[in-house]
Amino acid sequence: MRKLGISVTGGDTPWREQMDLMAEAGFDYTFFDWNADGQTAEWAEYARAKGLAVDSLHAPFGKINAFWEDTAEGEAYYRLMLQIIEDAAKVQINKLVMHTTVGNHPPQTAPLGFVRYRKMCDFATEKGVHICFENLEPFPHLHEIMAAIDDPFHGFCWDCGHNLCYTPHVDMMALYADRLMCLHLHDNYGVTQPGNIDFRDDQHMLPFDGVLDWDWVADKIAKSGYPGPLTFEYSSRTARRHADRPYRDFMQTAMERAQKLRTMVEEKENN
Ligand SMILES: [Zn+2]
Repeated sequence: MRKLGISVTGGDTPWREQMDLMAEAGFDYTFFDWNADGQTAEWAEYARAKGLAVDSLHAPFGKINAFWEDTAEGEAYYRLMLQIIEDAAKVQINKLVMHTTVGNHPPQTAPLGFVRYRKMCDFATEKGVHICFENLEPFPHLHEIMAAIDDPFHGFCWDCGHNLCYTPHVDMMALYADRLMCLHLHDNYGVTQPGNIDFRDDQHMLPFDGVLDWDWVADKIAKSGYPGPLTFEYSSRTARRHADRPYRDFMQTAMERAQKLRTMVEEKENN
């Protein structure tokens, strides 16, 4: 049976308790953000002690736009990414998820950025860490990077919620299913202000609570040949939405939805 994964969320529930409850609910995998306080190893160790494998590490993205710029900030961010790759390798987390832009006004792509992305990916290959570029806003950056990094060691993280609320007109899996290495599954209400796309719509809701066509998602996953876990990405927004009930109850519902999607995917695979 296909494995199931879930992210650590922000919010009031301490991360250890979240991992306890994930394991209790029956999830196989977790993932979380790289931790600037050097706690990545501690989180990974705790997860594994609970029987949770670590699917990936999520890179910070607040300054990612600087990657394209010939500035001290751009250089510092590039060096930080190398550090994060080292940190991931040290604790045997072999996938690092990266955004390629942040916000609605990224700088244009530029040669220096591609040099950095290529060098970073070569370094990651040496360390055994797969870089997974994730879809977000409708900018060409992702597509240009995917074209520039043709080493099959690195690949794509399909975020189906982002596909719905940022780029409903782009079939990301038609473009990158053959390079799929990881999934971020969650729901939302789509683009609520046409012509004014932004993170407001990126709600990170439980599957089947929003308007995403999960039959379509299941079909895309089933046809991709991707063998990895179905991994759900919840955030502090999700935690806030469910703050009126115990985290254990949220986790149980998350498991029910995960199992429902798994059944849909497996039915399609068997047909
Ligand atoms: Zn995501």
